[in-house]
Amino acid sequence: MSEIIHRSKTRPVKVGDITIGGSNELFIQSMATTKTHDVEATVAEILRLEEAGCQVVRVACPDERAAYAIGDIKKRINIPLVVDIHFDYKLALIAIEQGADKIRINPGNIGRREKVEAVVNACKAKGIPIRIGVNAGSLERKILEKYGYPTADGMVESALHHIKILEDLDFHDIIVSLKASDVGLAVEAYEKASKAFDYPLHLGITESGTLFSGTVKSAAGLGALLQKGIGNTLRVSLSADPVEEVKVAREMLKVFGLSSNAATLISCPTCGRIEIDLISIANEVEEYISHIKAPLKVAVLGCAVNGPGEAREADIGIAGARGEGLLFMHGKTVRKVPEATMVDELKVEIDKLAQEYFDK
Ligand code: SF4
Repeated sequence: MSEIIHRSKTRPVKVGDITIGGSNELFIQSMATTKTHDVEATVAEILRLEEAGCQVVRVACPDERAAYAIGDIKKRINIPLVVDIHFDYKLALIAIEQGADKIRINPGNIGRREKVEAVVNACKAKGIPIRIGVNAGSLERKILEKYGYPTADGMVESALHHIKILEDLDFHDIIVSLKASDVGLAVEAYEKASKAFDYPLHLGITESGTLFSGTVKSAAGLGALLQKGIGNTLRVSLSADPVEEVKVAREMLKVFGLSSNAATLISCPTCGRIEIDLISIANEVEEYISHIKAPLKVAVLGCAVNGPGEAREADIGIAGARGEGLLFMHGKTVRKVPEATMVDELKVEIDKLAQEYFDK
């Protein structure tokens, strides 16, 4: 079973009942696509996201109707709720009063010092953090004039500018994102930020695209960062059902051994030696294990020639043979199973292994 690699240490920041940063595992975030004032639709979408494995959810807050809906939404969901404010400090105050678990607002955009103080004091009183969201597409004019165009240094400078405003008010429950739709720029900005301050980093490649292209783009950028131990929470941004964002994020965490509660599928690419209908079996098994909350590795291989040996790291798997399958564990064949029942038998064995994991 996978071992979990812990992240490089950052300051721990509490968000509802979880702690982002410190030596904690990465948390998966997504954002509701509904109108926030439509409580029924928003709650329904958030519950679907929870079911998919979302651990923190954000909602837009463009107006008072949305801000006043926060309390009702909070009561009906089970994961921390982040409220996205942008500029209007009054909306921030309402959202905080309504029970937001975190707000996303850039203090440098709020305006007069009294307004910033009002928001910071409200966050302090409720013990909730602020996410500073730097975006390459909306850097401060002063920074753009200095660098000529959005650069990683400019993005970090922008983050430090907002951080300083909060630190001067003795506020340190800060999480920072530095998003760009240019993968290279985002990666460089996060790398520089991870050296410039120790606040937890919220990873994201913004406006990354549709399900297919956005997944590839996010995997390229976020993968480079995860490999270096950078990042404490992540959101995959897709022009798709947000449930897909959560699925992609979960898969990414699994790739880097950062998920303690999800099973992984290993399946062969198939070739002329194939003995079973591997593609449909792989899809069926993948769907089945998406509900398994143990870090099992499950292999599905087209033939037994290189089969079990090729997937030695798998906890369990099947390899096709003529008219039957070989059920194997850790590279060793356990028994032969008829083709007609092999997927069902595999599922039973997966359930047993998952139970053993939880009984340990
Ligand atoms: Fe080909 Fe068998 Fe390897 Fe699959 S497991 S790629 S079918 S040799």
